Amino acid sequence: MKFNTKTIHGGQKHEEATGSVMPPIFQTSTYAQASPGAHKGYAYSRGSNPTRTALENALASIENGTHGFAFASGLAAIDAILRLLQPGDEVITGDDIYGGTYRMFTQLFQKYGLQFTYVDTDVVANITDAISENTKLIWLETPTNPLMKIADIEEISSSVKAINPDILVAVDNTFATPYLQRPLDLGADIIMHSATKYLGGHSDLIMGALIVKDAQLAKELHFIQFAVGAIAGPMDSFLALRGIKTLHVRMQRHCENGKAVANFLVDHPKVAHVYFPGFESHPNHEVAKKQMDDFGGMVSFKLKDESKIAAFKFLENTKVFTLAESLGGVESLTNHPVSMSHASIPEEERLKIGITDSLIRLSIGIEDIDDLIKDLEQALNL
Ligand SMILES: *Cc1c(COP(=O)(O)O)cnc(C)c1O
Repeated sequence: MKFNTKTIHGGQKHEEATGSVMPPIFQTSTYAQASPGAHKGYAYSRGSNPTRTALENALASIENGTHGFAFASGLAAIDAILRLLQPGDEVITGDDIYGGTYRMFTQLFQKYGLQFTYVDTDVVANITDAISENTKLIWLETPTNPLMKIADIEEISSSVKAINPDILVAVDNTFATPYLQRPLDLGADIIMHSATKYLGGHSDLIMGALIVKDAQLAKELHFIQFAVGAIAGPMDSFLALRGIKTLHVRMQRHCENGKAVANFLVDHPKVAHVYFPGFESHPNHEVAKKQMDDFGGMVSFKLKDESKIAAFKFLENTKVFTLAESLGGVESLTNHPVSMSHASIPEEERLKIGITDSLIRLSIGIEDIDDLIKDLEQALNL
């Protein structure tokens, strides 16, 4: 099946009892057994639930994996990956990652004895040079949030595996989605999603996902999911599955609108810089072109006026764009990383990588592009 068919049919079958085309929302915690242990594959919904199974099969299908796992949030999914490790193990990770991931690494798992090394992942040698005998996991986000840097998944995976084939490479594929890039095909071991974002696509749920293609890794992750219990519920699983069915058409429009907004901003006299991997001038454009099928709907930019007041004036005055946390929904959102998504990163760390007061992140929705541009124009010109 091609991708645009997989989003709708991948891993799906009609429900057997009634022929129901969409999986029912199996809002149940438990399942009748004919005799102790004699059940129909479902014993207790922390372990598995048919609505969640339908979603997990769809996740595996669209990412070209064999096993999918749905969690209560994106962060719960990352937490499950870290539980594969042991005290003393080292994780090499990007220095420009989602604020909540950084918070979990520094304020939670460091306390339990994991070591984290932060490098700029757009240079492969930064990662391979940092590998030690304790390194067990490479954590990649690409494009990065909010600076839109690109890590070469294929090159990093093969270089890391050449040094030590047991080191796991995990990719947070939230920004790109499998519509644009498929990390398992590029040599990664684990894909993670905040399904809250593009997979769900309608800003109506919080959910995380993991996808793998190795049976042993799948077994370990399923054990963690079951033993810890941070699962996605049946209603949310239904919503995420419904979202995935339109992923390809939404992404197509996100990409078109994203490009148009990036081109508008780059020519605007009040804008100092636009961070968008689709520009030939973007330092990682060649890698982006190689590993992504298009460039997505996330655009960050800096105002020439570097004051917080100027950024706030823009953010308070858009009318179609909503100022809100999150991204990847059908509606366009603005975000001030310093005050919002990246507030948990200490100021000196933020400034080192360029997250300043004048930086604004846009999640471009699928509205009419004329209305989006008009809105940006009026808010910039105030
Ligand atoms: C939102 C987000 C997360 C965290 O996911 P939640 O669903 O909010 O827990 C992780 N990574 C990225 C890139 C995100 O945007």
